[in-house]
Amino acid sequence: MPVLDGISLGGSLARLEKDHARSVDTRDPADAFTRRWRFTSSRLPTCSNAACSSGWLRLWRGRQVPVFEGGWVCGPQCSKLVVGNAIARELKGWDQAVNVHCHRIPLGLVLLSQGAITRDQLRGALARQRTCGGRIGAVLQLDQEVTERMITRALGAQWGCPVLTLEDYSPDLMATFSPRLLLDAFGFLPLRVAGSALLYLGFEDRIDRSVSFALERMTGLRVAAGVVDGRAFAAAHRRILESAFPPARLVEAAGMNALIGTFTRILEETKPIDARIVRMHDYFWMRMWKRTDGSLKRAGCLAPIEDVLGSLAETGL
Ligand SMILES: [Zn+2]
Repeated sequence: MPVLDGISLGGSLARLEKDHARSVDTRDPADAFTRRWRFTSSRLPTCSNAACSSGWLRLWRGRQVPVFEGGWVCGPQCSKLVVGNAIARELKGWDQAVNVHCHRIPLGLVLLSQGAITRDQLRGALARQRTCGGRIGAVLQLDQEVTERMITRALGAQWGCPVLTLEDYSPDLMATFSPRLLLDAFGFLPLRVAGSALLYLGFEDRIDRSVSFALERMTGLRVAAGVVDGRAFAAAHRRILESAFPPARLVEAAGMNALIGTFTRILEETKPIDARIVRMHDYFWMRMWKRTDGSLKRAGCLAPIEDVLGSLAETGL
């Protein structure tokens, strides 16, 4: 076995890893995590499907990809199983980790406790809100004395999170962190990476734990979520929409089995050097890191990414 490992699969994977390492821009902090975990378990010559019965003979298949969540899979049947397990994990894990109800002090009371508004201002705003609707923060801003900054600071206190700025914001780099559809659907903005391990994530008026949790696991970076001033958020959002996002396709499946089948087919067709599935609300997001071809490598481009967003036709979740 060690000899086979050295000359066949192990050797090929070592070359693949070397190719990939060359394709990664070492100045790009977003890639630091990929070097840490992407190939750790794919060196193993055995299939990453724990229930696989094919054994060591698969070494002769000459198939090094696809790699899914750091593990090599020997064939379409095993791909289907590991994809199915990942989707089942996301269904369960999301509910446990994210769906936690937290009581929050109403924003008006936070502003009152901070001395930003008076009781009369709050009473007036609540009366106006009852008649005209709208969020209390927006209604209060109709009052000239209440600024956007006061509202953002109060939101930070309400959610127990920092107020973030757009310092070092690079829309082109940040657009690689998420498919555009998710960014639009859930109103978040990747803002910057600090060091090589921390991603700052901005929200306009509420922290969405499902988004933070999904991005944390997809990127391998720790996510620090915070609120951003409304106008600054809108400006940054406009700028990122002008950037190039990784190509993404949206698939709608009739049920869970169909979704697993579609993801497996795409994984088998694309044969990425790694892929991962996380769930963001009702979307299953599969990101695939593809092999870099020679011309891209010479141009110093990053490993190409392709995203797949899967949703169920009926609200079966
Ligand atoms: Zn297998």
